[in-house]
Amino acid sequence: VMASMAHLQKEKLRLQEELLELQEKLTAQENNELSLSLQLQGQVETLKEKLLEQAQEISRLRSELGGTDAEKHRDLLAAENERLRQEMKALEGELQRQQQAPCRDCPHLQENAELQEQLSQLQREAEETRARLVELDLEVQQKTNRLAEVELRLKDSLAERAEEEERLSRRLRDSQETIASLKSQPQQIKYIIKTVEVESAKVKQALCETQSRNQYLQEQVGMQKQVLKEMEQQLQSSQKTEAQLRAQIMMYEAELERAHGQMLEEMQAMEDEKNHAIEEAFSRAQVEMKAVHENLAGVRTNLLTLQPALRTLTHDYNSLKRQVRDFPLLLQETLCSARAEISQAIEEVHSTNRELLRKYRRELQLRKKCHNELVRLKGNIRVFGRVRPITKEDGEGPEAANAVTFDADDDAVLHLLHKGKQVSFELDKVFPPQASQEEVFQEVQALVTSCIDGYNVCIFAYGQTGAGKTYTMEGTAANPGINQRALQLLFSEVRGKAADWDYTITVSAAEIYNEALRDLLGKEPQEKLEIKLCPDGSGQLYVPGLTEFRVQSVEDINKVFEFGHIKRVTECTNLNEHSSRSHALLIVTVRGLDRSTGLRTTGKLNLVDLAGSERVGRSGAEGSRLREAQHINKSLSALGDVIYALRSRQGHVPFRNSKLTYLLQDSLSGDSKTLMMVQVSPAEKNTSETLCSLKFAERVRSVELGPVSRKAELGSWPSQEHLEVLKICCPVLQQPHAPAGRGHASPSPGQLSSRSASIRRKLHTSG
Ligand code: ADP
Ligand code: MG
Repeated sequence: VMASMAHLQKEKLRLQEELLELQEKLTAQENNELSLSLQLQGQVETLKEKLLEQAQEISRLRSELGGTDAEKHRDLLAAENERLRQEMKALEGELQRQQQAPCRDCPHLQENAELQEQLSQLQREAEETRARLVELDLEVQQKTNRLAEVELRLKDSLAERAEEEERLSRRLRDSQETIASLKSQPQQIKYIIKTVEVESAKVKQALCETQSRNQYLQEQVGMQKQVLKEMEQQLQSSQKTEAQLRAQIMMYEAELERAHGQMLEEMQAMEDEKNHAIEEAFSRAQVEMKAVHENLAGVRTNLLTLQPALRTLTHDYNSLKRQVRDFPLLLQETLCSARAEISQAIEEVHSTNRELLRKYRRELQLRKKCHNELVRLKGNIRVFGRVRPITKEDGEGPEAANAVTFDADDDAVLHLLHKGKQVSFELDKVFPPQASQEEVFQEVQALVTSCIDGYNVCIFAYGQTGAGKTYTMEGTAANPGINQRALQLLFSEVRGKAADWDYTITVSAAEIYNEALRDLLGKEPQEKLEIKLCPDGSGQLYVPGLTEFRVQSVEDINKVFEFGHIKRVTECTNLNEHSSRSHALLIVTVRGLDRSTGLRTTGKLNLVDLAGSERVGRSGAEGSRLREAQHINKSLSALGDVIYALRSRQGHVPFRNSKLTYLLQDSLSGDSKTLMMVQVSPAEKNTSETLCSLKFAERVRSVELGPVSRKAELGSWPSQEHLEVLKICCPVLQQPHAPAGRGHASPSPGQLSSRSASIRRKLHTSG
């Protein structure tokens, strides 16, 4: 603001200076013009005086009519003319100087130029006038010359006349003297008179001559007078021209005056304008100055208030600067230390992570081992019994009476009242009628989860028709069975392990009816599928053409079940009848990939709703019924054989004796886990079937694992018992043990004997 103020003041000063200069110039010009006009006036005055003088001279000349003075006068006029010319020249020079002098800034340059033009015009006119004057001069000279001539002649003639007159007067006097003398001498006089008279005639003649001469001279004088008159006229005309010139000069003067006045006016206007502009500028500058002053005052107060703030700010700034200067070093240090710390921490975390991972892996393995151990301790093959409640279908009266009781202390024991006798059975677990689906599944879920770890699992529902096999496996919509619960559990487990594992769960549904395998999810349900060995030589079995659905949610499973059901319903006229005569399989495959290790696992969960185990054949069925019964019996007994052989760790397991066992071969052998859910009806009328089922269950289960298995190898009674059971169950079955299939050679007698011998030895040494 101060700077701008100073600038403004400077500007103002500059303007004032310029103004002063302009004023000075103007005054100078004015003075010049004034002096010029004065000079001009003076010159005009002198010219006028001279003209007057000339006029006087002329009048004097006229009065004088003298010849000699005209010359002088001409000389005088010429000198005067010369002087006037010089003066004119000087004036012109002055004028030119003045023309060149004008201020360059003058806005009336044009006006000046006009004036100058006018002046030049005037000068031209003056020149013309001068030329004319010169002409007139010349004329006057000629005239004066002629006049001089005439005067000379006149003088001569005058002189002649005077001489003549003198001579005449002298002769007159002489003659008068002679007359007087003659008078005195009258005679003589008379004589003389006579002579005089003679002589007077002569005189008279002379007089006449003289008179004529005088006449001539007078004529001459008249002529001269004429000439004079002409000259006077000429003079008059020259006077007239002079008057004209004077008028012109007057006019020029007036013009000059007018121009001067105009100039003055314009100058005045300019002055006014200038003053006005100056005033305006000044007032504006004042207003601005005022505003600036106000601003300045505000700024000053601001400055005053800001100064302490500035001081603190500068202080802060300095300290901050110092801090900033120190900051990179500090930052570097901090960064270095932080980096070191972080890297150390990362290292620590890494090491702990590694440690934890290692531990986790170990724990995982341990858990798996424990789980396996648990499952193994529980038995890889376990047999559960489930008693359904009495239903309306059982009817009323003694036939529908409850024949099954349970042990309050042992949940693995079941008592059956058969023909007045109470028979007790011990299984791995017995579910009473009030046991919910949930409870049942609780016991099963360990098996299901091991499927995720890559184990193959089989869950069978065994029992007579109407004993609750389908209820246990499938359940109702409101109360689903093992199928749905198992899949739900799989989903939740897979979701829980999603951080490390990628799992895909696929589902297939098949049916075995009369030893024919059919795909329940396929497009051609009637098509019979074959079970084949994998061509890769792994010994794995697979079913070409069996449809696999990938499932990701409960909705998917429901859809799959519905689809399978619809297939089953549309294919069969009597679903219940048909379903009781066929085995229904739900095969769930869980494939897992450990993202960190790349380990792949494949687990299979086979949920099998077996055909009814009731002994149809006994009642002497025929035709297709008989064939069905034969097939069912065959497959069920084959299953019994297989399970028995597995539990008793026999070298040969007759998987190939039925489609069912053959299909489930890899899910039954090795590390696989199997659960047999034996369903029984508690009704009195079903006791014989119940007894049969329970016997089957118990016999299957009674083959103990581990050390007990030596029993199986030492004695062959379980085999005999089983045969007995099978013989009871399947009277139509002539040869329960089919010849051994390819690659499944039964242990040779030698092998058996050597093994039993070794065991005997052991027993012997242990006492
Ligand atoms: P299966 O499949 O062995 O022929 P179902 O499962 O069809 O036998 O059962 C026959 C009937 O008994 C069905 O109406 C079923 O609802 C009923 N039922 C079976 N088990 C139970 C149970 N645990 N609780 C209630 N009802 C049952
Ligand atoms: Mg059923």
